[in-house]
Amino acid sequence: MIYIERIAPPERFEKETEAWMQAWKTKHTQKSASQFWRLIRQRKRMKLFAKQLIAMFHEKCAYCESKSGHVAHLHIEHFYPKSYIEFQHLIFVWENWLVACQICNQNKGTQFPMCDDVPCLVNPTEDSPHEHVDFIGADILAITKRGKETINIIDLNRTMLKEERSRWLMNIKSLLILICRESELKQEIRKYLIWAMQPDAPYSAMTKAYLLEKTPKLAKPTTPHSHAELDKPLDKIDALLEEMKVILNTIA
Ligand SMILES: [Zn+2]
Repeated sequence: MIYIERIAPPERFEKETEAWMQAWKTKHTQKSASQFWRLIRQRKRMKLFAKQLIAMFHEKCAYCESKSGHVAHLHIEHFYPKSYIEFQHLIFVWENWLVACQICNQNKGTQFPMCDDVPCLVNPTEDSPHEHVDFIGADILAITKRGKETINIIDLNRTMLKEERSRWLMNIKSLLILICRESELKQEIRKYLIWAMQPDAPYSAMTKAYLLEKTPKLAKPTTPHSHAELDKPLDKIDALLEEMKVILNTIA
């Protein structure tokens, strides 16, 4: 989970959503919030808004940081649930929209407990998630009560998610070994590791926590790294593999 800076609503957002709200109050009064939402989300304009929201979340789930769009559609998640009558006025409020994968979305369901006067659930666009949760390897750990509630409600240590995080971490570990052994790849791997800590990389909070421990100077530079573009990731590894073809062919 990482902090996401919320951009301004897309063009025509307020005008369109006001009209939808009006239609719900006048023409579709019999429809529940979920029924009306299902109707509106088919609209072309709504799909455009969703696309911009998903881009703002770097095509990742706001809770688990999975880039799961290649196997299932990411959902617009109402942080303040639309099924609660007291939050139904927030159904078309941009600030109440997050992006979630199907599993995190379903796990949250209608759960929305309060911790004192604030929602227990950490809101990645309003809170600093790193103040509430941290990582040891692929395990996510709570630092605060709200962190603990968030991990439990969303089930952020679920087996398959943890397995996927472990696989991702294994890539990072392999690159750390390679960066120490292969000096000609150092710059390219360094760039890849910087990218892996950026918001557009999957599981970037976990990667950053891991690299802070292993390569503190890289993870916490005195002057921030510039944004690493990963257009041709690790090209030189392909070249190196080509060189090693003879050795690889002997492996049975
Ligand atoms: Zn998720």
